[in-house]
Amino acid sequence: MNSSLQLSADGRLRHLLTVEGLSRGLITQILDEATLYTGGGRKLPLLHGKTVVNLFFEPSTRTRTTFELAAKRLSADVLNIQVAASSTTKGETLLDTLKTLEAMQVDMFVIRHEASGAAHFFAQHAAPGVAILNAGDGRHAHPTQALLDMYTIRQHKPDFTALTVAIVGDVMHSRVARSDIHALRILGAKEIRVVAPRTLIPSHIEAMGVTVFNELDAGLQGADVIILLRLQKERMVGAFLPSTGEFHRDFGLTRARLAKLSPDVLVMHPGPINRGVEIEGEVAYGERSVILEQVEHGIAVRMAVMGLILGSEELQHENRRQRAPMNHAPR
Ligand code: ASP
Repeated sequence: MNSSLQLSADGRLRHLLTVEGLSRGLITQILDEATLYTGGGRKLPLLHGKTVVNLFFEPSTRTRTTFELAAKRLSADVLNIQVAASSTTKGETLLDTLKTLEAMQVDMFVIRHEASGAAHFFAQHAAPGVAILNAGDGRHAHPTQALLDMYTIRQHKPDFTALTVAIVGDVMHSRVARSDIHALRILGAKEIRVVAPRTLIPSHIEAMGVTVFNELDAGLQGADVIILLRLQKERMVGAFLPSTGEFHRDFGLTRARLAKLSPDVLVMHPGPINRGVEIEGEVAYGERSVILEQVEHGIAVRMAVMGLILGSEELQHENRRQRAPMNHAPR
């Protein structure tokens, strides 16, 4: 898929479809910008007068609600469309749906779809000036998840070049794994591991610059960050595992396994979690877990992306002037 579609000729973000092809500078800019928006606060006028449509063809809790909150905190008008309630169930094609909604003067679409490439398709056909944000397309990409993951890691461990990151679980079906791998590589992570049974490792994944482990304890040894993935049964065609019980025994993150690792290892998960499958409940909300921080950071990172793409230069400038932490520091 053509990742240059998301950048304008001068290198600015027009759409956000994938992390692949973004520069380290641009990712860092988005993460820096997100620091302006952490901690809630009053509404900002950055997207006043703009209309954002959340168009979700797949279920979502965190991503949809945090995109909605992000847009509302920037003063945009927001419309949520769930597929079951829309005309696509009556046979309207993706393109017709896009064009119909565009006629309502929409400025940005946030799209989640089960087909890899759906967001690119929208970006190719969107009218000039209409932005597309990929909120997850099939197994392909989930760029804002990767950015909020990087934001969360950076809060705790700012030097990516010192990090060993283990991505554990259903790598085969995970768009989060792919986007995280791209982001970690771009930010210069020391070592990226994927840890899973052979059946859940896509062929040729080593070409993405990762090391493959088929045994959990070996894969976690020396890790600074553990990113767990949900078993994505909805994308599995046929049997990939003998049973979820066996998966938990061999690849589940338990307190006993965690106790053997460095005391400051970070435990992450994009959610929704399968308690007792890839993660023990006590670990999900235990002291090493930053899972709820990931959710919170999702709002700030999504505000940053929306603001950079749709906000006027003047308002962006004003926003930075007012909200940059250094401007509040005593002189
Ligand atoms: N919420 C993430 C996604 O949409 C991860 C998951 O569903 O397991 O890809």
